Amino acid sequence: MEKVVIIGSGCAGLTAALYTARANLRPLVLTGRQPGGLLTTTTVVENYPGFPEGIDGYELMVRMQKQAERFGARVQFGTVEGVNLSGQPFSLTVDGEQVQAETIIIASGASHRHLNLESELKLETKGVTYCATCDGALPMFRNQPLVVVGGGDSACEEATYLTRFGSTVYLVHRRNALRASKIMAERTLAHEKIKPVWNSVVTEVLDVKQEKVTGVRLKNVETGSEQVLDAAGVFVAIGHVPNTQIFKGLIHMDEHGYIIPKQGTATNVPGVFVAGDCADRIYRQAVTAAGLGCAAAIDAERFLAARNE
Ligand code: NAP
Repeated sequence: MEKVVIIGSGCAGLTAALYTARANLRPLVLTGRQPGGLLTTTTVVENYPGFPEGIDGYELMVRMQKQAERFGARVQFGTVEGVNLSGQPFSLTVDGEQVQAETIIIASGASHRHLNLESELKLETKGVTYCATCDGALPMFRNQPLVVVGGGDSACEEATYLTRFGSTVYLVHRRNALRASKIMAERTLAHEKIKPVWNSVVTEVLDVKQEKVTGVRLKNVETGSEQVLDAAGVFVAIGHVPNTQIFKGLIHMDEHGYIIPKQGTATNVPGVFVAGDCADRIYRQAVTAAGLGCAAAIDAERFLAARNE
């Protein structure tokens, strides 16, 4: 029987692990399919306090894991397939095995949102990708025109990173102003290799018949006119969807699947707490996720203490 099981190993999960480990609760962290979470797929993180020169996203997560393990956290590669929260102890199905827990901290984060085009799906891994840092350096993208879709910080970060490899990087955004933070937007638009394509949406990724990306068909949402842009790669960076499907009907969430805490980090099920991007529609920063991970750990610790009084 586990005292604390933490679902997710991003900033929220590993910070919750650090705090619950230091409270001698020997937390079990279940990594999910992407150990370290989405931050491991980014390059330099410039806005995590304490690193004035920035720190590589992957390295930051490795350090967080080491810090939690130093105090007794156990990090296990595994994906939670189902949960039974109907009574104490809770039970979780992890890669087919049962795990029982007195408390659960949900820190399952979010995944990349897709355009939901058939051609996008068919050309995934054939030139359509969701991670420039993972795939940008592939030979197929070198010295070729590339397309980034989106207008947020992620899209700006991807576009800037891809200027190292591509000949031109088209930044296709559905409006005529970026959502990204001012510093990121200015840096992106000032780059000579980045060409914004405003008010435009991708209606088709070309060319399914050739089984590789040769370009995108775009529609201008203001005028309705269409154009085709030649490109060897399409990098989709249009935000995220929370990884909360397994809690549907059990834990309160909004219409987009973001978990709604009842009070602090406590959910509607006593003993189940939540932290990080799976419950955060607004801030979604590494540092806010870490802060909420800390809060969830303290809430879980107090819950256990009150039960055992
Ligand atoms: P985001 O801020 O939600 O931006 C998503 C972008 O995709 C928006 O520009 C949105 O357009 C567009 N979009 C959404 N759905 C679309 C669709 N179906 N078709 C076309 N375009 C679509 O997501 P994000 O850029 O991934 O950032 C998420 C959070 O992480 C933010 O809080 C951001 O600040 C943070 N972040 C920070 C950094 C950093 O500080 N270094 C780096 C990356 C991410 P609209 O603008 O029209 O809504």
